[in-house]
Amino acid sequence: MEFGLNNKQKEIQELAKRFTDEEIIPRARQNDIDEHFPIEILKKMGPLGLMGGTVPKEWGGSELDFVSDAIIFEEVGRGCSSLRTILSVQVSLVEQAILNWGTEEQKRKYLPGLCRGELLGAFAITEPEAGSDAGSLKTTAQKVDGGWLLNGVKTWISNGGMADVLIIFARVGKEPGSKAISAFIVEKGTEGFTTREIKGKLGLKAANTAVLFFKDSFVPEDALLGNQGEGFKIALSCLDNGRFGVASGCVGIIQACIDASTQYAKKRVQFGKSIASFQLVQDMIAKMVVDRDAARLLVYRAAELKNKGVRNTLESSIAKYFASEAAVRAATDAIQIHGAYGYSNAFPVERYLRDAKVATIYEGTSQIQKLIIGEHTLGVRAFF
Ligand SMILES: Cc1cc2nc3c(=O)[nH]c(=O)nc-3n(C[C@H](O)[C@H](O)[C@H](O)COP(=O)(O)OP(=O)(O)OC[C@H]3O[C@@H](n4cnc5c(N)ncnc54)[C@H](O)[C@@H]3O)c2cc1C
Repeated sequence: MEFGLNNKQKEIQELAKRFTDEEIIPRARQNDIDEHFPIEILKKMGPLGLMGGTVPKEWGGSELDFVSDAIIFEEVGRGCSSLRTILSVQVSLVEQAILNWGTEEQKRKYLPGLCRGELLGAFAITEPEAGSDAGSLKTTAQKVDGGWLLNGVKTWISNGGMADVLIIFARVGKEPGSKAISAFIVEKGTEGFTTREIKGKLGLKAANTAVLFFKDSFVPEDALLGNQGEGFKIALSCLDNGRFGVASGCVGIIQACIDASTQYAKKRVQFGKSIASFQLVQDMIAKMVVDRDAARLLVYRAAELKNKGVRNTLESSIAKYFASEAAVRAATDAIQIHGAYGYSNAFPVERYLRDAKVATIYEGTSQIQKLIIGEHTLGVRAFF
């Protein structure tokens, strides 16, 4: 078992750290206030290789290992969770879906553009009546001459209103259950496909989240990703990667909470002393440090399994559950350490809390992660 980073991983960490400090952090507060989708930052990340993940160079990717992938998500998450969400969807869900399930032609068509940040991806499984129970989705794909007609509504889709390439899960035929679900690659501009941005979110204000509408939207035969009926399997395999990305980003949020709290606690004086000297303040910071290290080690364990091509559903779920709940705890305590000042956006900690909360909801809620962990432990399935 190796605990240190190798030289290549250290180089990636250095690059991602510098990019976050110089390009992401200085703009994160204003982008949150303006609800501005940071497309200009993404355009800079692509050429640096920060959006190419583990995709082989042959397909235009960065050919990184999964620890390096986690390091990028952690660093970006330290600066801005909106951006980390955009990146996770692109790298962990869309690129991995096409890489692992796409045909040669689909890989050639989409991967280079996604990896360079010239194309933006989205991954749409959730519907108004199908959230945790994603297998009950109702969007349909009807076979017609030369392709498929999609009909239905997707909701809460990250990057949904901006994406050029969308992975859409739809039901073929009338059979209920997850076995009738197939995955399709849908391009922006497809006839009968429209979007509406979801406004008023608690956090992730610089990320785009949208409702997608499909009305007799025709996609060609070769839009099918994987085989017919493999959609749910594809979705679950992608979520193992997506949860890993979320967990890594949450390690970054915890680190950001430690940085902000340490800096503030050393400067703030009460009762004639720096508040950093108070044991109850140190208690909060010590818990953040323990949570950061535990979360990071869980992420790296999942990364090592992924590097070896070993199934990691349980380990990715454990990492996502622990890291997301720990990020909420860290951000709550970071506000507490800042007192009244933490309650305003003069300091970044209120944004960290608003942004951390969603990580306990998307890509499977904390309750769903616990049911996955429970099933692996007990051998008894509590859901679908
Ligand atoms: C900002 C944001 C971005 C998102 N991005 C995407 C995206 O890009 N693509 C996409 O497809 N989806 C996306 N989602 C949707 C997200 O994955 C779902 O919100 C999530 O899966 C939960 O579904 P739901 O909101 O319908 O909650 P529900 O499933 O209705 O759950 C409500 C509550 O019931 C609990 N619950 C449900 N079932 C059980 C059970 N069996 N046992 C115990 N408790 C249970 C849940 O844990 C939760 O507390 C996003 C959501 C948000 C908020």
